[in-house]
Amino acid sequence: MVRIISRSEWGARAPRDRSYVSWSQRTEVVVHHSAGPTTQTVRSIQDFHLDGRGWSDIGYNLLVDDDGAAYEGRGWTVAGAHAVGHNTSGIGICYIGQNSPTPAAKATIRALYDEASERAGRALPKRTHGDVNSTSCPGSNLQSWVDDGMPGGVGVIEEAMNMIINLRKGDGSETGKREHVKFLQIVLKEQGQDVGEYGVDGEYGGDVESAVLGARQAEGSEQDFGDWVSGWAAKQIIRGWVEQIVRDTVGSASGGALPDTVDVSGKLRLTK
Ligand SMILES: [Zn+2]
Repeated sequence: MVRIISRSEWGARAPRDRSYVSWSQRTEVVVHHSAGPTTQTVRSIQDFHLDGRGWSDIGYNLLVDDDGAAYEGRGWTVAGAHAVGHNTSGIGICYIGQNSPTPAAKATIRALYDEASERAGRALPKRTHGDVNSTSCPGSNLQSWVDDGMPGGVGVIEEAMNMIINLRKGDGSETGKREHVKFLQIVLKEQGQDVGEYGVDGEYGGDVESAVLGARQAEGSEQDFGDWVSGWAAKQIIRGWVEQIVRDTVGSASGGALPDTVDVSGKLRLTK
């Protein structure tokens, strides 16, 4: 089960009204983007839908951010306001951002899709807003990802590698690589590396250099530099991240042995 940040946790306002949908009426998952900044809060999206649009609540059923965190919108079984003609049949999942979702965001959307199918008791068709209404939502990146079948697992790992490979010290907003560096910082942080006092800010400075070096040394590298992410370094860093996720998820329950499939708390679904 994906850990979903509840409405009370993100400080949701009460809905004006809600109408419930049974699982038998749910026949599709519809992917959206918010088309705003990745820093937009769920609460501000709700405010806009309540006050700006005059809707009864936030339009989406679930939302996902670049860190891979999932948020409860209307939830699994409340009719949404996200796609004309598909608000009863479709579970609307919104990526908070424009057109560069991180692998973590995609992995969580995939995990939510899997959970929706599990709850529905059958594989629900994967759709985008653009598939069901005339709109450019959710952008070309998510559209082709959904067209490809929402690859999780190995596809996500490859994409994660591609996100961080060849990043260098100095990369960030000035070199147009802020989202990539942000993802590198998330990955380093999740395996226990210190990314510095500014946290996940998308800037590859001295703190990130030390964290990259730390992650490499943890993997037994003899090459002691952290000012760029070589192909070899990217592999070690992503491997450390995946292993950490597996440890967090499987813990000691399995005695250290990996099961065939690991549903890693909404981040990745790994299959041996
Ligand atoms: Zn949409």
